[in-house]
Amino acid sequence: MMQSDERVDILIAGGGFAGLALAIALRQGLGPSTSIMVADPGLGKGHEGDERASAIVAAARRLFETLGVWESVAGQAQPILDMVVTDSRVEDTVRPVFLTFAGEVEPGEPFAHMIENRYLLEALEKKAAESGIALRATTVTDFTPPPERGRTNADRLGSGDPHTIQAQFADGGGASAHLLVAADGARSSIRQRAAIAVHGWSYGQSAIVTTVSHERDHEGRAVEHFLPNGPFAILPLTGRRSSIVWTETTPEAKRIVELPDDAFNAELEQRFKLHLGEIHAVGARHAHALGFFVARSFIAERIALVGDAAHLIHPIAGQGLNMGLRDVAALAEAVVDAARLGLDIGGADVLEHYQRWRRFDTMTMGVMTDGLNRLFSNRSPVLRLVRDVGLGLVDRVPNLKQVFIREAAGLVGDVPKLLRGKSL
Ligand SMILES: Cc1cc2nc3c(=O)[nH]c(=O)nc-3n(C[C@H](O)[C@H](O)[C@H](O)COP(=O)(O)OP(=O)(O)OC[C@H]3O[C@@H](n4cnc5c(N)ncnc54)[C@H](O)[C@@H]3O)c2cc1C
Repeated sequence: MMQSDERVDILIAGGGFAGLALAIALRQGLGPSTSIMVADPGLGKGHEGDERASAIVAAARRLFETLGVWESVAGQAQPILDMVVTDSRVEDTVRPVFLTFAGEVEPGEPFAHMIENRYLLEALEKKAAESGIALRATTVTDFTPPPERGRTNADRLGSGDPHTIQAQFADGGGASAHLLVAADGARSSIRQRAAIAVHGWSYGQSAIVTTVSHERDHEGRAVEHFLPNGPFAILPLTGRRSSIVWTETTPEAKRIVELPDDAFNAELEQRFKLHLGEIHAVGARHAHALGFFVARSFIAERIALVGDAAHLIHPIAGQGLNMGLRDVAALAEAVVDAARLGLDIGGADVLEHYQRWRRFDTMTMGVMTDGLNRLFSNRSPVLRLVRDVGLGLVDRVPNLKQVFIREAAGLVGDVPKLLRGKSL
């Protein structure tokens, strides 16, 4: 039988972007009388090891602004002022530009910013601590669903309260909650314990991530070179630096990451070219294996999945975290609305409302990014012609481009309040 040390209203397993943003959003919407705990073994340990940077689209930036987090990281965020797409082979000396995007979603509001993950994660953790959210540096190892599920008495916990779920921690403690949120990433053990299957596959590709310093200013330009092994993205950071997300087949990515510095720089230069002058890789380099999945269900009894625990997509369009923040905003809104009506915040109606809101939208974005990757990551001359004609057409129709910009900025569809910059 599990022991439950503490009682909280909401327990969030995972203190990454999704878990921390959700905790702050719920705290703001529900007030201090609702107790919220985030459990993650990485809490309080800093984020220096994360070399990634993320494109934060306009809707996600509005959410961070509403949560009171954006102002503390704005100095580290680089607006993306325009974007160029090319389609070529590594050995091509000239890379014709097929598509350019420039513009703002509203006057003075760029469609996205680039920011290094560590700054945003540190700001979220600080805000969560200041907001009175309990931060527990431990792993959620197990949980017991409420008793209605047909468990025997021996499996049940504490009072046998049908309105609570019991979680067990690696440090020996535990907590009971009305709602357990799985924000524990793509390998979510809570999703697995809840027996929620996923539809998905591995791409056999990995993304090499590193930071590059260069001689000339990038002027806020993001560049996506579609190369046969996968996209090579140059994403502007503050100063004369850019974040590189460089997709290769997994064996090739492993080979490249393990090269000595000089040989690595030579491979990098071959793809980056010298349009920004001399370049140097600075900082660590890592390869992240890429896959795709969507969970068959985003909910189970008193459990909601958010972020990468619910879905994983290819970073080709820089949308994974932005999708996770859409989950966060939708779940927070559903829970806060229910609490104001005096309803059970972990009840089936609230969770089903959340799932209806998010699952279809997630499938749409998942299928789109998967299709983009398949269309571009190949050597077929026929597909190359098709995509280049397609890109050329989009480039010539300004209204169509504006539609794409708003879609990429996360401002299309049934957008939850926080992503529209409105408080709960
Ligand atoms: C190369 C690359 C580039 C990307 N670029 C972008 C981009 O530009 N824009 C974008 O929107 N997205 C991007 N993404 C996707 C984005 O990084 C992820 O979608 C995002 O980090 C997921 O956040 P999360 O909080 O859901 O999960 P995670 O960041 O994986 O956090 C999960 C947390 O849960 C904790 N945890 C795990 N198990 C447990 C447990 N049992 N108990 C308690 N805690 C637990 C972990 O310690 C971790 O802190 C990129 C991804 C890759 C690989």
